[in-house]
Amino acid sequence: MQIESYDLFLDVDFRKLRFDGKLKIRLDSESDIKLNSVELEILEVDANGGPVKYSLEGEDFTVRTGKFAGELGIKYRGIISDKLVGLYKASYDGGYVASTQFEAVSARRLLPCLDHPAYKADFKLTVRTDSDTSVISNMPAASVKVDGPRKTVEFPKTPRMSTYLLYLGIGNFEEVKDRFDGVDYIVATVPGKSSGATFPLGVAKDSVKFFESYFGSKYNLPKLHLIAVPEFAAGAMENWGAITFREIALLVDKDSSIRIKKQVAEVIAHEISHQWFGDLVTMKWWDDLWLNESFATFMAYKAVDSMFPKWVIWQDFVRGETAGALGRDSLVNTHPIEVKVNSPTEIEQIFDDISYGKGASIIRMLEAYAGEDHFMRGVRSYLERYKFSNAAGNDLWNQIEQASKTRVKAMMNDWIRKPGYPVLNVKLDGKKLIIRQQRFLLNGSSEPSNWPVPLTLKINGKEQKLLMERSEESIAVPDRVDSLKLNLEQTGFYRVYYDGLYDRVWRSDMSPVDRYGIVSDAYAFTIQGKMDFSQYLALIDRFMNEQEYLPAFEVSDQLSSLYTITRRVEETSRRFHRTQLRMLANRKDENSVVLRGSMASRLALIDMEYARELESRFNDYEGAEPDMKQAMVVAHAQASGDFESLLKNYKNRPSEEEKSRFLVGLTSFSQPSLNSRAMDLASSGEVKKQHVGTLLGSAARNPDARDGTWSWITEKFEWLRNIYEGTGVLSRYLTYVLPILGIDRPEEVTRFFAQHKAPETTKGVEAGLEKLRINQVFLKRIGPSEKQIVEVKERH
Ligand SMILES: [Zn+2]
Repeated sequence: MQIESYDLFLDVDFRKLRFDGKLKIRLDSESDIKLNSVELEILEVDANGGPVKYSLEGEDFTVRTGKFAGELGIKYRGIISDKLVGLYKASYDGGYVASTQFEAVSARRLLPCLDHPAYKADFKLTVRTDSDTSVISNMPAASVKVDGPRKTVEFPKTPRMSTYLLYLGIGNFEEVKDRFDGVDYIVATVPGKSSGATFPLGVAKDSVKFFESYFGSKYNLPKLHLIAVPEFAAGAMENWGAITFREIALLVDKDSSIRIKKQVAEVIAHEISHQWFGDLVTMKWWDDLWLNESFATFMAYKAVDSMFPKWVIWQDFVRGETAGALGRDSLVNTHPIEVKVNSPTEIEQIFDDISYGKGASIIRMLEAYAGEDHFMRGVRSYLERYKFSNAAGNDLWNQIEQASKTRVKAMMNDWIRKPGYPVLNVKLDGKKLIIRQQRFLLNGSSEPSNWPVPLTLKINGKEQKLLMERSEESIAVPDRVDSLKLNLEQTGFYRVYYDGLYDRVWRSDMSPVDRYGIVSDAYAFTIQGKMDFSQYLALIDRFMNEQEYLPAFEVSDQLSSLYTITRRVEETSRRFHRTQLRMLANRKDENSVVLRGSMASRLALIDMEYARELESRFNDYEGAEPDMKQAMVVAHAQASGDFESLLKNYKNRPSEEEKSRFLVGLTSFSQPSLNSRAMDLASSGEVKKQHVGTLLGSAARNPDARDGTWSWITEKFEWLRNIYEGTGVLSRYLTYVLPILGIDRPEEVTRFFAQHKAPETTKGVEAGLEKLRINQVFLKRIGPSEKQIVEVKERH
């Protein structure tokens, strides 16, 4: 089947939340026409003007034309949804907008279509609706005709594109515009929020400039909208020319923290890189979703690094993307980057750490292997060759292989098609360094498996490179090995275990990223059981006075994660965070400001003395450094236990960043009953749908919220499924929270999910339960803390 164009006239009743559609599809088909349609009421169908039979089974809409060429006409009716997919209602204080979210398979909720990324077509959209609303789509409006209370907005046809990239937004939008190099840049927000548009407009212009130069081709549409949507399941969505964002991922005002500014820049750059990689050239099927996502993720950091060099953003890449993926991919319940997917629920669940973080890390490893310049030239010829069309991973490897004259395909195939990744076990044997690889599994089991590892190492300060393809490699070394580090700057997607060599490996003069690499891998080996807990704590001790952003952040992450499952590290964590805050006290550089804020939030949760001190400054909240505000809110919760004050702040503050600070506060109490009250609030309708996940995530970080949050999940599970229907969001949250909330009740948790089957969460639950079992084994191994033993004795 070949689709040429969709010509859609939509009559939208904005008040009554419904629409009537008149659709004309020009197409060629060898047999009956098979389209997709969900929750649409089909009223009339004609083929080239004549009557025709049709049927609707599930999401399959079949028109019995037999072999056909020409125009199919469809009249239908639909509703503006209260879910977060299709054309849905996104509420804010005082009103709502209607906005679409189609990726992956929800375009079929707005119009009957062949909802498949490879069936690109032109889209011509005309919308009639209330004249006091504005209407946004991929293209700028060609004409607006007002007729009393109604108006008709006509958009010119789009370039050829996939169905999931079509956009429609209707509402009372406030817009800030800028024009640069022939393109209109427009930030659209709900009323009263456009003051946050300056920073994103600048980042958008600079990103387009960066990508035009990197990709060697111009941005393709006459305008670029950045739309802040008040309710949104994901972070952002790359609809061509009309990118949608959560407000917190787009708007920046004078009270925004640097932490959020970094995120905003990264998300904008990510979505803008999709305008080429994803929108202009699109994957053939969702199996290659990872290619879209990993590439955009990787390119975003490149763009941000060029715009804000002082952020040293690759350090955040290593911590945020690579580390998350190494964690997720160390489970038996993982999947290869390239994965066969069929059903919509399967598709939604692969928007995960593997598709984004692992894919992006593999691409970074590939770039380091092929060379930056070769890599760029390969990407350029790929985009040139497949523009307005579709391609698969192999098409990209071919282009990079030709540009670099290296064996890119052979290397990439294994990394993409096999689940997991290797650990390199390094041992010194006389004048040889023996390196053995096997699959790294967090549950401690071993599995022989080989990857072609682009190996980088430094012995006594001297660098070497090789492609390790066998299971074992031996490298000649000098008589004395004083220092040793593999995986330089952590560009490789593997872990390194230095068997009996940790004293030689550690050097205070190695790069911050290399120091990070050692402690980050050591943590995984500790959970796995390969490294003793006491050895791990001794290593952590060396980081007590760590001065650099990345390794210090990592140790803080580790101690905080450990604290969520065991109070065993409470003292160490307190000591570490206090020392860090002392060292960071007067630093002004932006990364130190971010770090100080995170360290303070974490300390406030575990150190009542510190919480009280910080809480005593709560009166000066408005004037405080934005990056410290989250910590002040957590301290306020811990020290005051004042639920009403936090709730009032959550409700009354207009900025999403402020709201999210107080949401975190609402689950940061030391009294379990107050944390449970916050969870009940989540399901009462008083909290936005997009904030439910924020609450869940933050509750998981507080051991005093654990029991209440688990029972809340069991009670509200069907409700959670309902609000996140059609998205993969719940699956991802469960992967994150189950290993923590399930502590000390693994059987109960397992039983619950055996009894409550929810296909859209299967993958997330399996991964979460595996991690939970690993945590339980780890906790048993390290035993209870002295303090816990005392507590138990006292109770008896
Ligand atoms: Zn993306």
